[in-house]
Amino acid sequence: MARLRDPLTTLKGVGPKVGEAFARLGLRTLEDALFHLPLRYEDRTRITPLAAVRQGQAVVFEATIRAAQVAFGRRRSLVLKVEDGSGLATLRLFHFSKAQQQQLKPGRPLRGFGEGRGGAGGIEFVHPELTFLDGGAPPALDDRLTPIYPTTEGLGQARLRSLLHRALALLEGAGAEALGLTETLLADLRHLHTPPVGTDLATLEAGLDPAQQRLAFDELLAHQLAMMTARSVLQAQPAPRLAGDPALEARFLRALPFELTEAQRRVSAELAADLDRSQPMLRLLQGDVGSGKTVVAALALLRAVGSGFQGALMAPTELLAEQHLKTLGPWLEGLGLRCAALTGRLGAKQRRALEADLASGALPVVVGTHALFQDSVAFQRLGLVVIDEQHRFGVDQRLALRDKGTSQDGVPHQLVMTATPIPRTLAMSAYADLDVSIIDSRPPGRTPVTTVVLPASRREALLNRVREACKAGRQAYWVCTLIERSEHLEAEAAEETAETLAKALPELTVGLVHGRLKGDAKAAAMQAFAAGDTQLLVATTVIEVGVDVPNASLMIIENAERLGLAQLHQLRGRVGRGAAASHCVLLYQSPLGRHGKARLEALRTSDDGFYLAEKDLTLRGPGEVLGTRQTGALDLKVADLLRDQDQLPAIQEAARALLASDPAAAAPIMQRWLGTRQQFINA
Ligand code: ADP
Ligand code: MG
Repeated sequence: MARLRDPLTTLKGVGPKVGEAFARLGLRTLEDALFHLPLRYEDRTRITPLAAVRQGQAVVFEATIRAAQVAFGRRRSLVLKVEDGSGLATLRLFHFSKAQQQQLKPGRPLRGFGEGRGGAGGIEFVHPELTFLDGGAPPALDDRLTPIYPTTEGLGQARLRSLLHRALALLEGAGAEALGLTETLLADLRHLHTPPVGTDLATLEAGLDPAQQRLAFDELLAHQLAMMTARSVLQAQPAPRLAGDPALEARFLRALPFELTEAQRRVSAELAADLDRSQPMLRLLQGDVGSGKTVVAALALLRAVGSGFQGALMAPTELLAEQHLKTLGPWLEGLGLRCAALTGRLGAKQRRALEADLASGALPVVVGTHALFQDSVAFQRLGLVVIDEQHRFGVDQRLALRDKGTSQDGVPHQLVMTATPIPRTLAMSAYADLDVSIIDSRPPGRTPVTTVVLPASRREALLNRVREACKAGRQAYWVCTLIERSEHLEAEAAEETAETLAKALPELTVGLVHGRLKGDAKAAAMQAFAAGDTQLLVATTVIEVGVDVPNASLMIIENAERLGLAQLHQLRGRVGRGAAASHCVLLYQSPLGRHGKARLEALRTSDDGFYLAEKDLTLRGPGEVLGTRQTGALDLKVADLLRDQDQLPAIQEAARALLASDPAAAAPIMQRWLGTRQQFINA
């Protein structure tokens, strides 16, 4: 009798070659096949009158050829006019043989299947599947919708479909009970693999079929369980209690040129309470750009140091790591503590020296990129890891971190900081393994940034604005973006722009920073800008996060319509850091679509990162908000975070209840949705 864990190769017709193709799809067992659900469906169960065909809809039609003609346009094509009593349509074939041409004669009745598109003369089908109806009884229509599955090279749709359905039948033969599934679940899967006539296609495609909704619940539950399990596995390990040194912290606070805000104080207290436990902290600190997360992180690091442990701060780019060093360095040195950056820019000798100091404990605080967590780096006593700008790291990387720095004292505490405000519902599913703290107000004394939206045709007029701002002693950013996220092309565009701007504004010193510059050159360009030596900095989105030059009060962003709201908001956060009134100009390429307009308008009228993130979520989906890697880790098959967000609170509740009452029952749920992917979470 078939079992869920049987390999797919037990299916007749699955040899090594097909097995490999399945493996590429992540399918290894009958269970994997059962949960490999269709992307969409085609309806070959009924005949649609031509007059009723909607643009983009794939339909079966029956009609008679009225005219056939070879058209010589840009490409030669055979054009048939067909009619079915309700209306007319055009069939267009770009590839056709002489024999086909001879068969497709006026007067012949045929059945076709294809996607209706809008053509010059009404509905048009390009290369529909065709059968003649004058050769005996017409073939029967399907009694089920046709599922279309995600597939891969070497495994055709029809073949895949028949194999998946065979796997389904085999498992059904064993029965739900023997499989350890509920009857409902199995029936829902059957329904989605082969929806019967009468199933509403639109509902199905919207993911709102009751079977889909039940499965979505189950799938989100699996993810929730996996994250909660990962969290409890980690929290079962001991962590060092970091009680801190109140005198040290007091000295630090006295030396700061400002008072902590209420929100910063509250969050610091939350962190302090976590750090003083013998369970590892797993906390996400959310705070809009400029809300002052760095000083909060510094306090947490001091708490580790004050307890005799080391602290590490990890940033997504070298630029940011160096920026952090520039901020933290003086703060810590003022207290007689060393802080250094471990980046790719270090020479071999410096690097070895730094690694030796980390291993001996001579270096209490280190900042760096993920290079910090290479094998050659060992800490003497790592108490706390702070990860800045979390969305640039994948969940898997974060989870991999937990082993680093594990010592006789246990695992280090983790603080993850993000400036991308994550809507609550998303946070609940993407960060179910983290506690959340929020800095929800900004330090006083900022003037809000005025945002202007302009077509790219006004680019010239902006030169004057840049000139004026710089003449008044301020500085400006000019941000180049491209649709292809190719670092290479983006760098080229930035170089070109820098040249043009330098020519157009000869009285200004123009700097350039992009991702293709060597670390030294990048840092030098940033330093020159920070020191005020360059007045206009042409940059790619590498300056997106963290860069802090308070004297910069003007930012121009080209092709703004191509970026997500969250990212634009991040970029804009680079200005408005000083006392001067700041401006951000969003240039767009005309014409701007409806969505594009709505997005830029949202940005113009709001400076609230949370509001913008919610807006992004509705306009562009969770991928944009969380970053692709994040959603990649939450690779959902049936569920959709946005569509199903109303279910999330209940799902979280169900996951908690299940883990409390019947933890063994969680494993099969995770297994069926996450399969092998679950292992990295539980590893
Ligand atoms: P982010 O949360 O974006 O990382 P930063 O930590 O870089 O923000 O802080 C932004 C700026 O605000 C920095 O120049 C920092 O020195 C300043 N800052 C932080 N906290 C306060 C405060 N409580 N009062 C005044 N300025 C502050
Ligand atoms: Mg920051």
